Amino acid sequence: MGAPRQPRIVIIGAGVSGIASAITLQRNGFHDFVMLEKGSDVGGVWHWNHYPGLTCDVPSQLYQFGFDPKPDWSHVFAPGPEIQRYLADVARRHGLLRSHVRLNSEVVATTFTGTEWQVETADGTRYEADFVIAATGVLHHPAVPDIPGLGDFTGDVLHTARWDDAVPTAGRRIAVLGTGSTGVQVVSALQPDAQHITHFVRSPQWVIWAPMWLPQPALVSGLLNRMPQVNRALYQAGMAGAKLFTDVVTRPSWRRRAVQRYARLSLRAQISEPELREQLTPDYEPLCKRQVLSGSYYRALRARNAELVTTAIDEVTATGIRTADGRHHEADMIVLATGFRAHDYMRPMNLTGREGVSIDDAWAKGPRAYRMTAIPGFPNLFTVLGPHSPTGSIPLHHAAEVTARYITRWIRRWSAGEFDTVEVTEEATGRFESEVAEAMGPTVWNTGCNSWYFTEGGSIDLLPFDRATMESMLDEPDDRDFHLRVRAT
Ligand code: NAP
Repeated sequence: MGAPRQPRIVIIGAGVSGIASAITLQRNGFHDFVMLEKGSDVGGVWHWNHYPGLTCDVPSQLYQFGFDPKPDWSHVFAPGPEIQRYLADVARRHGLLRSHVRLNSEVVATTFTGTEWQVETADGTRYEADFVIAATGVLHHPAVPDIPGLGDFTGDVLHTARWDDAVPTAGRRIAVLGTGSTGVQVVSALQPDAQHITHFVRSPQWVIWAPMWLPQPALVSGLLNRMPQVNRALYQAGMAGAKLFTDVVTRPSWRRRAVQRYARLSLRAQISEPELREQLTPDYEPLCKRQVLSGSYYRALRARNAELVTTAIDEVTATGIRTADGRHHEADMIVLATGFRAHDYMRPMNLTGREGVSIDDAWAKGPRAYRMTAIPGFPNLFTVLGPHSPTGSIPLHHAAEVTARYITRWIRRWSAGEFDTVEVTEEATGRFESEVAEAMGPTVWNTGCNSWYFTEGGSIDLLPFDRATMESMLDEPDDRDFHLRVRAT
């Protein structure tokens, strides 16, 4: 056998999954890779999102890389800018910013020629690659609602994922649309200084009370700083604790019922007015949608300058919002906390696989990927946090690291000359989809609500398995599920 081949690799995206992929490649001796990032900085969703009140509702100790945990988080639930700084620091520490990342480089086309991938960015630069890793994220493309008149509004309109820090909010009349994690955070943050805030809620969400403001004691940070082994042990303990959450959402049990009771209690204990409580009570089970956590939202809503509106919106006018009851709500600015087109993944990029198949055709019935990472028709291309990733149940950084290790195993075999292209079979992908569909039955996501977890085709784009199962799925590649091809020389 000859010397190992050095693969040329393009990673698309420099957010959590791109950074996890890059560092995993480096740790395995692969250094010939470039990271193409559309934004002006790394961090992905944490770069794009900087709306007031942005806080991660996953404890910081779990919302970080296992290979580079941060000892000194300021809070138990870290504020958004601190997470962005952490991701940029990790990228810098590992030399990614210096040698690999190309910022402001939006990929517009990725084409498999039969022997390699050609990747083109918006400025016309072309890259050739033996492997492409699509680390483009889930919560990436803002969803802008199609409301009549929105374009005629004469005040400011901001989507939370494209916040403009130059637009003032204090002393203004603010209309907020959307009541997911984002809407709840932004209402809580803007209410104290607004002249008036109106929260337009189409479907109320369960909001579990949690002390999002809790600081991480300096004593703890100091200890974790001095003793990295304690930091690692704390991370492992957190991962073990996260198992409980996976269990609660994937299997009906007394534990799930207890959390759901707590969600109902969170509403009852904070909202005593029967009419307001009625308006805020969802018509589905707690945990069915991505659970919202807040210790300040209900208090903000009850403030004198706040109003909850659950009547449907008819139209936006030049100066406000008209609801179906004919009322006109004057506003100086409209905040769209209306979420994301979560199932676009790497689209609208023009992604073309073997024999000219486009990703839009391959995904005509919705996004699909074998074990979250491999797509039939797209050889030597893998997704990280792609379709069916466990965004609602397993710590994300860990899922990204496990997937990156799996991809690296394939790349190592390519490097050893075992094959030139690897492509998942249609049959294995179909079998994985059936397993997912069957396991989705008892999950809480399947108990009768509508959420961004659902694809247009009606399937739930999550992983209904626990962490051990995910890890074993992405342990050693199973050759029976793949076509391994060697080029004729
Ligand atoms: P989301 O959960 O998808 O919520 C979108 C909201 O907009 C929903 O309330 C939806 O109402 C409403 N909406 C959409 N179109 C509308 C229209 N035409 N008229 C009126 N209302 C409309 O989006 P998100 O709040 O941005 O959260 C997305 C995900 O981001 C979260 O689930 C979470 O995973 C992540 N996130 C995390 C954090 C964190 O702390 N870690 C913070 C923010 C976001 P319907 O329910 O009626 O459709």
